Amino acid sequence: MHQDLERDRNDEIIAILEVMYPDAECALNFRTPFELLVATILSAQCTDKRVNEVTAGLFAECQTAEDVIRLGVEGIADRIRGLGLFRNKSQHIFAAAQMLLDRYDGEVPQTREELIQLPGVGRKTANVVLANAFNIPAFAVDTHVHRVANRLGLVKAKNVEATEAQLMEAVPKEQWIALHHQLIHHGRNLCGARKPQCSECPLLPHCHFGSASKEANEVSN
Ligand code: SF4
Repeated sequence: MHQDLERDRNDEIIAILEVMYPDAECALNFRTPFELLVATILSAQCTDKRVNEVTAGLFAECQTAEDVIRLGVEGIADRIRGLGLFRNKSQHIFAAAQMLLDRYDGEVPQTREELIQLPGVGRKTANVVLANAFNIPAFAVDTHVHRVANRLGLVKAKNVEATEAQLMEAVPKEQWIALHHQLIHHGRNLCGARKPQCSECPLLPHCHFGSASKEANEVSN
């Protein structure tokens, strides 16, 4: 019975998010799996907007692993200099391009196990590539997804790994990709880290955090 209620509540939350963000999708600009891989490596500790500004120039002359090798680490660094950690990122992109050419004929592999072998690619980056380049269900849990999923009570997890595992358990596989984007959009729009705008949020009646804050406010007033 309790599980049925939880499932109904989760279904309500997912349905509301679908209405709020019907077109939510990856905010990074890319045309190929390789470009998405590069953009996602570049996005660590940077906004997607800033990454898109940089990749607009980078991808004009660098669209394949061969192009990356031709530019070299310094050439890449010159073109991404505006981004944080640009030196590390240029080394990772070069080494990843080298491995793609050595092992996969320059193509981006389509399994998590293979993707996380690439330099600069962790589980989150691999999940972003799987979901957005290949439409393979995966939950890339970033700070927004972790925060919003926990506030809503979709999961109760201390770290992103546990959030990913619990979301995969709680949500039907065919909804993972869309829900991932919707949670990110909601985290950016209404459910910010410092000041969630609960009074304007359609999810308030279903949200653990929002309901608890509302009750606390009512008691103190
Ligand atoms: Fe976030 Fe508040 Fe909405 Fe809950 S009610 S999802 S905490 S904005």
